[in-house]
Amino acid sequence: MDALAAQTRVERPPAPRQDPAAPPSATPETVVGAEAAARTRGAGRATVSPTAVAALTDAFHQGRHTEAAYHALLAECAGFPLRATIRQEEVNAEFVENIPIAYVRRHGLLGVNRQDGCLGVAMAVPAADGVLDHLAAVLRLPAVVELAPAAVIQQATDHAYAGRVSDFTAVLDTLPGGEASPDSVVTLEDGDLLDTASRAPVVKLVNMILFEAAKRRASDVHLQPYSDHVQVRYRIDGLLYDYLELPGHLLDEVVSRVKVIGRMDIAEKRLAQDGRTTVTIGRKSIDLRISVIPTSYGERVVLRLLDKSARLYELSELGMGAVDRARFTAVIQKTHGIVLVSGPTGSGKSTTLYAALQHLNYKEKNILTLEDPIEYQLPGISQTQVSQKKGMTFATGLRAVLRQDPDVIMVGEIRDEETARMAMQSSLTGHLVFSTLHTNDAAGAVTRLLDLEIEPYLVASSLLAVLAQRLVRNVCPDCHTVEPLAKEDCGLLGLAAHAGAPSVPRAVGCPNCGTTGYFGRQGIFELLIVDEAVRELVVGRAKASAMKRKAVEAGMTTLRQDAIRKLLDRRTTLEEVLRTSLEDSMMDLESDGAECGTRRAEAS
Ligand SMILES: [Zn+2]
Repeated sequence: MDALAAQTRVERPPAPRQDPAAPPSATPETVVGAEAAARTRGAGRATVSPTAVAALTDAFHQGRHTEAAYHALLAECAGFPLRATIRQEEVNAEFVENIPIAYVRRHGLLGVNRQDGCLGVAMAVPAADGVLDHLAAVLRLPAVVELAPAAVIQQATDHAYAGRVSDFTAVLDTLPGGEASPDSVVTLEDGDLLDTASRAPVVKLVNMILFEAAKRRASDVHLQPYSDHVQVRYRIDGLLYDYLELPGHLLDEVVSRVKVIGRMDIAEKRLAQDGRTTVTIGRKSIDLRISVIPTSYGERVVLRLLDKSARLYELSELGMGAVDRARFTAVIQKTHGIVLVSGPTGSGKSTTLYAALQHLNYKEKNILTLEDPIEYQLPGISQTQVSQKKGMTFATGLRAVLRQDPDVIMVGEIRDEETARMAMQSSLTGHLVFSTLHTNDAAGAVTRLLDLEIEPYLVASSLLAVLAQRLVRNVCPDCHTVEPLAKEDCGLLGLAAHAGAPSVPRAVGCPNCGTTGYFGRQGIFELLIVDEAVRELVVGRAKASAMKRKAVEAGMTTLRQDAIRKLLDRRTTLEEVLRTSLEDSMMDLESDGAECGTRRAEAS
């Protein structure tokens, strides 16, 4: 990979015709990808008549030449190098890594290494320039046609992609009949706005980026410009991974294409822009929310993918422990009061709220939501989009919703005093209200409400429960190993030493998980039930740490404890536990002030 990375950095490959070091047979007819290559392209093309190549190809397709004879004639008249065999070590690994098998099969080509640093593209029949442009752009290498027998290419392809075919076919299997490729599977629902013929390579490139994103279960695609290149990243299961490096000169075209998709102003490059649209990738209908913002190296793009066809989760599928689930289910059956879900952005709060609403969704109840944005359409539930620009805030929306005779109201987020006060007051007048807050833990949500100047008695009398949550990544079931926890890690997690070190999973990485070692996520939860004891603390404006301690005494499982449970159940790794419950452990330290100092002193 490193050797190849070095290869991809070749900015100006020697123009092969002028390079004495290049073997004579390596004289390319078609070279694409770099400026130097662009020069040779013009030169090379002038010497060969495309009509002659086309005539030979026609004759071959009509069966008037054998493949060998056709190749010999092409080599003679157009100077294409010939390749009789393809050994596995000659296959370009970067090519196999980045070019989807469907594309490879459809065009009958395979990337091979060449001594001059160019990418050899072995083909039985020379493909159109657009194909070479595409490959050159994706791999950042000038691409050169080489002729090889179709059977040789096919065999080498089968072998090279053997490790990758399984996950790809899994995606292709989900597509409706016919052949799938990045060109055909990404379509705009109401037609393409751009003349795609003239810019086909960039269109294909952007399609391929989206296609791969959907295939790899990415929630976001980032296009980040640097001084000399553009980094394409995917967010998968909450973390960003580098996927592809594009040459810097492609940025403008790629961003323009994304703007077309998002129905944004292509000419505007100095202001931030937002766009949204729906695309179809395979059978999936995916909502794209696109944000473009100018940076010093050009425009940075983030595309958020929302799979509208994805199934909603039920409460039982979120990863909640049996005790928490029973308590939570009991709380949401109440007819009035407020239930909060807390956690940072991307901690799965909406998924939990949707599951709760689904659970309550029967005909006798009128359920209304105010959301920004509406992530999924819930059948039988009236959802309203909040829009600051149009004057529909959470507070004004709530006022309107209350006139709609609701039983259950979901307010997407409490950000200000007005919304908080209205939500709490309406929960006292016979409505069950759900909402979210950005706080680290459950007790913190209570003190946040008090910080918003809500009177303690109002919080105490309306708040039923706070569910704090995070998402931990599930270790990939196909590739993880199981190893005993190190002694110091047991100590770190507060596991009793005498019980012996438990064996826990370690992430490895395989084709099925895209080498991340993880597949999917589940929640870790901390459910604070506001009982009489907690209520007293609220009225007395007690600190969050005191409320947390009281709740733990009453049987609350903390985020960290829940994460450790999932580790011991062998569903996630130590790294995930530490990553997702870091604030929780710090909170524990802060709650015992004196001890905290000594522990830190010992640690340092
Ligand atoms: Zn795996």
